[in-house]
Amino acid sequence: MMTENSFVPEQDRRCGFVALIGAPNVGKSTLLNQMVGAKVSIVSRKVQTTRSRITGIAMVGPAQIIFVDTPGIFVPQRRLDTAMVAAAWGGAEDADLVVLLIDAERGIDANTDKILTSLAESGRSAILAINKIDAVKKETLLRLTQKLSERGEFAEMFMISALTGDGVGDLKSWLAAHVLPGPWHYPEDQLSDISERLLASEITREKIYDRLHQELPYATTVETEEWKEKPDGSVRVSQVIYVQRKSQKPIVLGKGGRMVGEIGKASRLELEEFLGRRVHLFLFVKIREGWIDDPERYREMGLDFPTSAPSGKKG
Ligand code: GDP
Ligand code: MG
Repeated sequence: MMTENSFVPEQDRRCGFVALIGAPNVGKSTLLNQMVGAKVSIVSRKVQTTRSRITGIAMVGPAQIIFVDTPGIFVPQRRLDTAMVAAAWGGAEDADLVVLLIDAERGIDANTDKILTSLAESGRSAILAINKIDAVKKETLLRLTQKLSERGEFAEMFMISALTGDGVGDLKSWLAAHVLPGPWHYPEDQLSDISERLLASEITREKIYDRLHQELPYATTVETEEWKEKPDGSVRVSQVIYVQRKSQKPIVLGKGGRMVGEIGKASRLELEEFLGRRVHLFLFVKIREGWIDDPERYREMGLDFPTSAPSGKKG
């Protein structure tokens, strides 16, 4: 696709990786999608939805910003948690710039407190983005910014609403001006480096998070096993929803298969919209007792397998 960016001379181009880090549920994935202008990362009211590093690519004039969405940073309880938190800090280490998101409603909770301490210890400079300003009063915001300025040196502080887009443009422009001169890493019309297969798995996982409660979403993982382009332009996709225990399977299936049917329908509609063509989606539910401790499943999710489980409660 030719866009106006194509005419930016090589020597004027800029490019950089920007990691979005923060406690679970502060709005990292929502911000990523807002920056990119498309949904590339799944979002949920439940915590720990994002499991691996997801990129979203935004073009701002001569600059290409590659945003890296990360799992939340929190105190790990299970092996999967350890892998997710490692991926989040890894994302920050590999990035040129780090944006720390803070939830204006929740303020500096225990997780955010730990992250601020770790950042200060590492000597890494970060940009602060106070998110969800649509949900709090001015005074609350003022008090929070005061507290935060006592917690370290930040390159810049932004007030944003990832949901409404308020302030997001300013943050984006600032980042575009601060990534380094250099060639673009990706074609300018590319929105993410996530594969269509992984995206399809993520979309189904989001629909599970929307519909199932308590431990179940965390106990499931989705893998896309078949992806077949058909002559009529449609695509046939088969996915397996893995659960950890026998007792969980009937819940995911629902009465007469109603639950998995609803999950499948919602997922198919979104996938069709994203791909711009018809999708035949087939979902299977299988039990894989040890998946949460199986290195292969971590690889599928794009995570490194931690050699030791955390000492806390096991999941
Ligand atoms: P993540 O865990 O940090 O990736 O957070 P998500 O992007 O999944 O968002 C967690 C929840 O916060 C979702 O229910 C979002 O709709 C909500 N959320 C995100 N940004 C905002 C915001 O700016 N304002 C409000 N009111 N809610 C938001
Ligand atoms: Mg997320």
